[in-house]
Amino acid sequence: MKKCVECGGKTGSIKNKPYRYDECGLDVVLHGVTQFRCEHCKEVFVSLPGIEALHRAIGGFICSKRKALLTPAEIKFLRKDLHLKSKELASALGVRPETVSRWETGKETIGETQDRLLRSLYMNYASEKANNVICHGLVQMFSELPRERKEVKSPKKIELNLADWLGAGMELCGT
Ligand SMILES: [Zn+2]
Repeated sequence: MKKCVECGGKTGSIKNKPYRYDECGLDVVLHGVTQFRCEHCKEVFVSLPGIEALHRAIGGFICSKRKALLTPAEIKFLRKDLHLKSKELASALGVRPETVSRWETGKETIGETQDRLLRSLYMNYASEKANNVICHGLVQMFSELPRERKEVKSPKKIELNLADWLGAGMELCGT
């Protein structure tokens, strides 16, 4: 039996009642979770197992949405689940920091290209997580790309060893 998170009182469980997950900032209703009501202070709370996986599921749902660009709340959710500050996401997407804030407050609509890029960053992150890769491969790589249109020295020629393409797979996030 869970104790009340507010007053420590005895709780009764409520089963099979849909739970509105407003905390995530989106209109999400969860089924099959158990809620608890305190018999003393009447506080209702929920225990959500596998919250990481839940967020990945919500994020995946958002990213596979068709026929509409990401909404302010969706952009914010994806950014938070990516554990990025506005500034960091802006840097990865090649936009100014204030642009991300404007998308999230609805003052500006996200561009089609950035919409696609954000979705693909997120999906890449989700698959990294699923494979237990503990790095932000694409986010990091994109952040290091030049922001302004300026002359950048071309990289030196590409040299590869046999093991580079036949080995244990190229590590995007290697040293
Ligand atoms: Zn209570």
